[in-house]
Amino acid sequence: PTRLSLFDLPLDPVTLDQALGQLGTWMFQEARAPHTVVTLNPEFIVQCQTQPDFVKAIQAADLVTADGVGIVWAARQLLQQEVPRAPGFDLVTGLMQRHRGDLKVFFLGAKPGVAELAAQNAARDYGIGVAGTHHGYFDLPEDQRVAELVAASGAHLLLTAMGARRQETFNQYWRQVMGVPVMIGCGGVLDVLAG
Ligand code: UDP
Repeated sequence: PTRLSLFDLPLDPVTLDQALGQLGTWMFQEARAPHTVVTLNPEFIVQCQTQPDFVKAIQAADLVTADGVGIVWAARQLLQQEVPRAPGFDLVTGLMQRHRGDLKVFFLGAKPGVAELAAQNAARDYGIGVAGTHHGYFDLPEDQRVAELVAASGAHLLLTAMGARRQETFNQYWRQVMGVPVMIGCGGVLDVLAG
């Protein structure tokens, strides 16, 4: 489907099923070309008014989905377009359900201990492989170390849950270094998976 533009940000009007199909293709391509995914919500649009680096990270994303009804409503009002919802949580659990043991996932973000718990639960519930885990409370000078840790993990899928803007700008800045085929900024998803 043709990419839309909402408040100067890209928006891909894909269904959850289409998004899962596209991400599945990217994850298992031999070339392991890196791709970033943004799940757009109204809070992002507000932050983008004052944060040009956040705008750039979203504009550079390979897939931008509507995380919830706020974006669906805005697209209807402003663009007269029906955009399906493809929330971060559904993308993450959908990929794990579809690919199970074929999939190695790196869990990055949330408070110390949460990523480990999320990984344990996901391994138990979906049978996915855990490529690695790291908490999300580190400062910019440590970014490179974390990015290299992710790069060495061989993950197909990186879940970056460090809050709006930080997670998207991190994925965008380090995408070539990390070289993970699919990197999703996914807010509170690790907390939910941790239970
Ligand atoms: N988070 C993090 N590092 C930070 C700030 C937040 O890892 O520096 C985590 C936080 O623990 C939570 C997730 O990011 O698991 C989403 O946080 P929050 O809801 O505060 O961010 P929002 O997405 O609302 O901006």
